[in-house]
This record gives sequence, C-alpha cells and structure tokens, in this order.
Amino acid sequence: WSAETIAVVTGGNRGIGFEITRQLAAHGLTVILTSRDPNVGFEAAKVLQEGGLNVFFHQLDVLDQVSIKEFCDWLQQNYGGLDILVNNAAVNFNQGSDNSVEYASQVCTTNYCGTKNMIQALIPLMKPSSVGARIVNVSSRLGRLNGKRNKIEDLNLREQLGNVESLTEETIDGAISSFLKQVEEGTWESGGWPKTFTDYSVSKLAVNTYTRLMAKILSDRPDGQKIYINCYCPGWVKTAMTGYAGNISAEEGADTAVWLALLPDQAITGKFFAERREIRF
Ligand code: NDP
Repeated sequence: WSAETIAVVTGGNRGIGFEITRQLAAHGLTVILTSRDPNVGFEAAKVLQEGGLNVFFHQLDVLDQVSIKEFCDWLQQNYGGLDILVNNAAVNFNQGSDNSVEYASQVCTTNYCGTKNMIQALIPLMKPSSVGARIVNVSSRLGRLNGKRNKIEDLNLREQLGNVESLTEETIDGAISSFLKQVEEGTWESGGWPKTFTDYSVSKLAVNTYTRLMAKILSDRPDGQKIYINCYCPGWVKTAMTGYAGNISAEEGADTAVWLALLPDQAITGKFFAERREIRF
C-alpha cells in the first residue's frame, strides 16, 4: 500500500468513520474523507492533515444523487478512481427496541440505499489491481439473520434472505418495503419480525444481505479487475450514535474495517466479520 492507493470513506467527519480515515492514512494511503456537511468535513480533514496524513476532503451525501455525481466526477478527474471504498455513513434514532413510524424510512434509506448508491456509483471507478479493489460495509450484529436474540420468525423470509444462490436485489428491496409498510400499519411483529428488530436492525440486515449478493455478482470479474466486498460489526462503540455509551473506543471500532480493507488474502469476499474474525450472518 502506498500514497497511490486511494481510499474513500463515507461519513468520515466523526466517530468510527473518522477513525477509519485516520488509520488508513496512517498506513500510508491517500484517503478521501467525505461528509455531507462541507464545513464539518473540511475541519475534520484539516485535523488529520495537520497530523501529517494524506487526507483530502470532498462533500458527499450518500442520499443525494447530485452530490454523488459531483463527487464521482471529482474523484475521477483528480485521482483516476479509487482502490478502497468504506461505506460507513448511517443513522440510528432508536434508544430501545421500538420502531418509529417517523424515522423508519429515513434509517432504512440512509443505511441500506445510501450504501447501495455508493457501491453502484463507485464500482465503475474502481481501479484495476493485482490485489483486488475492496469494499467494506460497516454493519452491525443487530442485523443478523440467525442471531440468537434476533431470529426472524418468518421462515419464508429467512430462507429468501439467507439463500445466496437465489437472492436478488428485488428480494432485499421487497423485504425493506414490506417492513416499512408493516411499521406504518403497526403490524411488523405479527408480520414475522422479531420484537427486538428495529428499523436500524432491518437496515443492517439489508446491508449484510446486499454484501453477499454483490460478492456473488462481482465474483466473475476477470483477474486484475477483482473487487472483494465484506461487511463487519465494529462492536458497541462510544460515538454520537450510542450517545457515547458503548464499551470500546472509535479507534478500536475502526480496527476490523482497516484490517479488511488492507487484507493481503485476496480471495475473501461476501463474509461478515467482527474483531477480525468471521462471524455468521
Ligand atoms: P456517528 O453518528 O458518529 O457517525 C455517523 C456518520 O454518518 C456521520 O459522519 C454522519 O454525518 C454520517 N451520515 C449520516 N447520514 C449521512 C448521509 N446521508 N450522507 C453522508 N453521511 C451521512 O456514528 P458511528 O461512528 O457510531 O457509526 C459509524 C458506523 O458504524 C455506522 O454505519 C453505524 O451504523 C455503525 N455501527 C456503530 C455502532 C456503535 O456502537 N457506534 C455499532 C454497530 C455499527 P453527520 O455528522 O452529518 O450526521
């Protein structure tokens, strides 16, 4: 890895995203710190630049197609593309395990569709490489399909989302739409979603499932143009999202993302990790 290696981090202005940016740059990479708020993002990048790191800022709102297009054009013109994409940006408005009609759509859209938007926009810009380009999706154990506490009751849905062979994007989108409709109607529990499954959990389940789908879709790219995509759970991290509760620092939470982005073993794709170890979806 060198300053020629270009990494892009979404939501890099604070929390885990800021730390992923810092750690990737500390490995000698050039990192593009992106943030939806230009002032905050610029200041965050300045802090890292003053520490001698190769970090540059560009505005990017993962839900705004104009912002995404401007970012992609700038990235292409200035860096000729990218090698590593870390999809970190997300929102969560839940304190407990309730689903809010007010926020459910925003959470699913930001966390799942925002991630999807970036993957679709940036795949064409990923540089050919002998070690393979990398995508790391920051997800959560809360979105596990077969979690001990979170098991999805609806066997049909579990089978559809868990069977990578027959999985399609429409299946994932359909599950999200159906969940959001059930939240609005107040029927999500009887609809087969576990009591503890919040909109946030559903959004991360979708991110995990999309990671597996994309790994399958990307698997037939020829040598030299490989793209490896994995997701990970950072743990319970002291950031704004948790109200600075949590049992680990943002620095620790960023570790597995950086490890995955720089993993020398090229063939790992479509997997879920935590603390540098593979875990079940
Ligand atoms: P923060 O709330 O501190 O950071 C979230 C980041 O996402 C912010 O930079 C925020 O920008 C950005 N963001 C939100 N919406 C958009 C958007 N539309 N476009 C661009 N950026 C956006 O949370 P964390 O650092 O804790 O979270 C980082 C990741 O880790 C998330 O994916 C989260 O789900 C995941 N995670 C966190 C856990 C934890 O315990 N903290 C546990 C499991 C997973 P802005 O500052 O403008 O709001």
